[in-house]
Amino acid sequence: MARVLVVGSGAGGATVARALAGTHAVTVLEAGGPFRPFGRDLDLLARARATGVFFDVRMIRLLFPAMQVRRARTRSGTDNMALVNGIGLGGTTTISTGNALRCDEGLRARGIDLDVEFAELAREVPVTADHRERWSATTRRLFGVCSDLGLDPRPLPKFGDYSRCRRCGRCVLGCPSGAKWDARRFLADAAARGATIRSGWTADTVVVRDGRARGVRARHGLSRATVPADVVVLAAGGFGTPAILERSGIRCEPRLFVDPVLCVAAPLAGAGMDREISMPFVVERDGFIVAPYLDWLSFFFDRRWRLPSGDIVPLMVKLRDDDRGRVGTRRIEKELTDGDRARLAEGVALCGDLLERLGAPRATHVLGTLNAGHPGGALPAGLGPDAFHDQRLPENVWVADASLLPDALGRPPILTVMAMAKRVATLISQQTRPS
Ligand SMILES: Cc1cc2nc3c(=O)[nH]c(=O)nc-3n(C[C@H](O)[C@H](O)[C@H](O)COP(=O)(O)OP(=O)(O)OC[C@H]3O[C@@H](n4cnc5c(N)ncnc54)[C@H](O)[C@@H]3O)c2cc1C
Ligand code: SF4
Repeated sequence: MARVLVVGSGAGGATVARALAGTHAVTVLEAGGPFRPFGRDLDLLARARATGVFFDVRMIRLLFPAMQVRRARTRSGTDNMALVNGIGLGGTTTISTGNALRCDEGLRARGIDLDVEFAELAREVPVTADHRERWSATTRRLFGVCSDLGLDPRPLPKFGDYSRCRRCGRCVLGCPSGAKWDARRFLADAAARGATIRSGWTADTVVVRDGRARGVRARHGLSRATVPADVVVLAAGGFGTPAILERSGIRCEPRLFVDPVLCVAAPLAGAGMDREISMPFVVERDGFIVAPYLDWLSFFFDRRWRLPSGDIVPLMVKLRDDDRGRVGTRRIEKELTDGDRARLAEGVALCGDLLERLGAPRATHVLGTLNAGHPGGALPAGLGPDAFHDQRLPENVWVADASLLPDALGRPPILTVMAMAKRVATLISQQTRPS
């Protein structure tokens, strides 16, 4: 059996591991540890905010090791938006809000048809939009306001079984009830078919000799080792994969996008939106979406967010940003373009209108911290003749994560990343089939 080494265990990595386990000797290397949902008392922490103890978003990792926050740098070298990703088994899917949307228009425009893969996923992963009974009364009102304005709000399809949802409001902090599906289920399937899952292993570089990858140089605690492989699959995410490639001497595209998020919040006593599923519905506009979303990063780390979590109405603007940014070996460069700023302002203005119609005067609205968690685009599919195998890569090195997305989605990537990862697994199977 060919030895396949998968780096990263999130949406892409878990999908490839599951697809190849049993027919290939699959090993997954994951930098983070086993995932545990956030277990601390949120009310106690909310009271601690007043002491100013939480002053930098990057501190979130001390409270919640599965969430990593870094600062992007501008080209002139100053700190910029907060970049968020999951680190641990299941990758960023464990801290997702569970949205399951097919977003492959950009791939289709490049002649890539993933119908078969999406159909398989529909059989393998539970998805439902039947969760309205888990919404707060304020969210229902907000939905009505959006409908009245002709904004065509839609309940978001979610990964999982929401009959098990306890309305804890912590979707992005890990689901304690198991209602929300995440990629650890695919990892468990892969392990049951014989895959080896190694957490706490950070890949540094791909070891290439005579034009072929021989394995991956990785760190585990203080020790370093080369893990041998016949095929290397990089699925370390939109920030992780380009960093590994750059360290290995393979230049990626300076086309990083991240789907920046900015929340607008307004006071409303007893709103209760801290006790419901995150992002219950969405309004889609050209270049951005708007959804109810309690941004816990802003809640804890932004001094302007001082009200109790149950007394605010938080709305998110998620932007489809211009693909201008770069992951380097030491830093990530990303800043909003003028076009991004214009679209963001349009989204913020729409949120302002909605909040006013709910009864919160504009002067009471506060903005949150600009953050982003949908990185991709560093090695886009469809650039060359082999849609899913970039010519810069050795023949036996593949990428199977959001780096393959050709354009910013401004919408949830997980389902599309998994569909692409399935296709990559099929191509690897063809490549390793004994002739
Ligand atoms: C707060 C938040 C909420 C989100 N909600 C949604 C949602 O509701 N729906 C949706 O579709 N998308 C959502 N997303 C985005 C989505 O989770 C990601 O786009 C998706 O998981 C990307 O998949 P991936 O395989 O590219 O990377 P990831 O899922 O991030 O997996 C990459 C993995 O690689 C590991 N890794 C990184 N570097 C290394 C290394 N050097 N060596 C070994 N391992 C490494 C990481 O620890 C991680 O486990 C959300 C993102 C955030 C931040
Ligand atoms: S609100 Fe429901 S789905 Fe979200 S984390 Fe809590 S129990 Fe899970």
